[in-house]
Amino acid sequence: MSNRPVELEVKHLCKYYNAGRKRLLKAVDDVSFDIYKGETLGIVGESGCGKTTCGKTCIGMLEKTGGEVKFQGKDVHTLSKKERFDFSGKVQMIFQDPYASLDPHQKVYDIVAEGIRIHKLAKDKAEEEHMVLELLDMVGLNAEHAMRNVHEFSGGQRQRIGIARALAVDPEFLFCDEPISALDVSIQAQIINLLMKLQKEKHLTMLFIAHDLSMVKHISDRIGVMYLGNMVELSGSSDLYRKPLHPYTQALLSAVPIADPKASRERKKIMLTGDVPSPVNPPAGCRFSGRCKYCMSQCFDLKPELKEVEAGHYVACHLYDEK
Ligand code: SF4
Repeated sequence: MSNRPVELEVKHLCKYYNAGRKRLLKAVDDVSFDIYKGETLGIVGESGCGKTTCGKTCIGMLEKTGGEVKFQGKDVHTLSKKERFDFSGKVQMIFQDPYASLDPHQKVYDIVAEGIRIHKLAKDKAEEEHMVLELLDMVGLNAEHAMRNVHEFSGGQRQRIGIARALAVDPEFLFCDEPISALDVSIQAQIINLLMKLQKEKHLTMLFIAHDLSMVKHISDRIGVMYLGNMVELSGSSDLYRKPLHPYTQALLSAVPIADPKASRERKKIMLTGDVPSPVNPPAGCRFSGRCKYCMSQCFDLKPELKEVEAGHYVACHLYDEK
């Protein structure tokens, strides 16, 4: 994967919020990673770990506090008006909640056609109609759906509409912000399969945010694990599942359901004790120190850096410091 060009380059990204009384909530704190052209990078972590904030800051939806994000070599936070318009044609988002992100009283046709109109992608009405119907077909909907209002559709169908809307401008990069978490379990796999099919057909690059580790495995080439605003592990998807290195990743994976009942019975679930500390006042050294059974003296005051410990496998943990 690393011989592909870098599509999104994130360096030391920070996103802080004012938490009052001169305190800062460090939602994303010094996070660095690359996304290569044509790959899907999954970012996982518990709710509140900063993964969505990280994704939104990466695509310029949120201002950064520090660091740098470049898309195709251009700093996404300093784009001119014209560059931002071009960027919006290349980078699209699929939202977490299709009930909140689509106007229930709008016609499906108009929702999907909006991007085509804004970016003047159709030469006339007939071409616009052809493009909208093609997009609906691509996401498993049909012409009959086009003239219906959004409120007539189920959650899964609404997410398909959201995907068609995102694809309408023929983007190169999709930011998927927990796109299945608001859907019934029975529908989740369908949406994942649809996204995987579209990614292949349209050679998309994707950043996929999730808290469900079992789903993210199927769609991601590589996975990053976030904990309390930091990236604690980053590796190829199968490597991460086969050999998680960070104690937090090990705990997360030990809770993922496995289909084989025998393997499931034999597996030891790692119970995490203690609460996630506040991002307003995180521990000085390793942010996982209060919950880690391997915690050593240096973990309390020395922050572990994300380092490559095996080819393509990065971890931020003093257990892997060179002896
Ligand atoms: Fe645990 Fe220390 Fe590694 Fe943090 S750095 S995960 S506290 S062993």
